[in-house]
Amino acid sequence: MIKKRADFLPMSRPSIGEEEIEAVSRCLRSGWITTGPLCAELERQFCALTKAPYAVSVSSATAGMHLVLSVLNIGLGDEVITPSLTFASTVNMIALRGARPVFCDCDYGTLNMKVRDVENLISPRTKAIIPVHFAGAPVDMEPLVEMARRYHLYLIEDAAHAVGTYYRGVHAGGFGQIAIFSFHPIKNVTTAEGGMITLFDPEWEKKLRRLRFHGLEREAWKRYGPGGNSVYDITEPGYKYNLTDMQAALGLAQLKRLDQLNERRAHLAHLYLKHLQGIDGLHCPEIPTYPHVHAWHLFVVKVTKMPREEFMRQLGEYNIGFGLHFPPCHLLSYVKARWGENRVGLPETELAGERIISLPLFPDMTDEDVLYVCAAIREILK
Ligand SMILES: *Cc1c(COP(=O)(O)O)cnc(C)c1O
Repeated sequence: MIKKRADFLPMSRPSIGEEEIEAVSRCLRSGWITTGPLCAELERQFCALTKAPYAVSVSSATAGMHLVLSVLNIGLGDEVITPSLTFASTVNMIALRGARPVFCDCDYGTLNMKVRDVENLISPRTKAIIPVHFAGAPVDMEPLVEMARRYHLYLIEDAAHAVGTYYRGVHAGGFGQIAIFSFHPIKNVTTAEGGMITLFDPEWEKKLRRLRFHGLEREAWKRYGPGGNSVYDITEPGYKYNLTDMQAALGLAQLKRLDQLNERRAHLAHLYLKHLQGIDGLHCPEIPTYPHVHAWHLFVVKVTKMPREEFMRQLGEYNIGFGLHFPPCHLLSYVKARWGENRVGLPETELAGERIISLPLFPDMTDEDVLYVCAAIREILK
């Protein structure tokens, strides 16, 4: 028996250093704390990272999805193809727009969307495909980009897990379409709450900026700045989904450390793979075979030997935190009540959905923490 640790090891914890604290303090002392020059700088840096010509910061990835679906006019009577094994926020936004989600199965090994199944799901009502780069492993984008072009569909990458994810040398968001990143504290780069839309169309960018802030043409930074003009008109009502400079200050400090943070995540993930491989009753995450850089946002294993609830209970006894990413969306009560059965069966999603559990993974974790989790799992599954 291994000695159980006295302190709790969380599943995730943001890596906040003195540089982050200093950066936020500087913003607080500057006299301008809401949307302004720091948000603009964070947007520029996302253009540089993704090679997309436009970036629009938002209050969350969920808000970003709501804005994007609004700007693309996706609504009543439309269908959107997305994996079921994703966070419910995407499906909620599709539902709130009055559109219908059509779910695609995932690959049991990588948990990424089964791209070869997508074409079967396209109907005359389909408007968009929303792939998710699950846990930071890129979706197979090449066939999706081709399919979207051939069927005239919007391709919106849910890149919430994908700051630092590359597919065949291209960063998430760099495929000529739209991507949405999340800066929630669990994600690879955080602003506490926040998100970023990257895109290639200048008209959509203008519209996103307007709808992000009440429908106003000019933002407060410009209206209140030197030579500003406080008169405004609104041609279409908008939302209140802007990011603040206080948050952007945190994000800029985090982004400076992106390589270091993600290298640490990758190191810990490979340590898990090395020490968990071959344990009877556990399936490790599989890695895509095409060239890519994995952002290792999550480390999701599947428990096959005992009910997951029992496995979770025992992890708790070892003082180890865990997560569930994600309960399949097609099984959510309102989804079933509103749309009934999905158009096709989702056998791999349902199998994975019963077995998945996310182990602790965050940059400030030590190698010893990983070895402790591996040793505990060996004991639990013995
Ligand atoms: C976190 C997450 C979101 C939502 O991000 P927020 O910034 O919290 O709104 C969307 N999709 C996926 C796959 C996520 O993991």
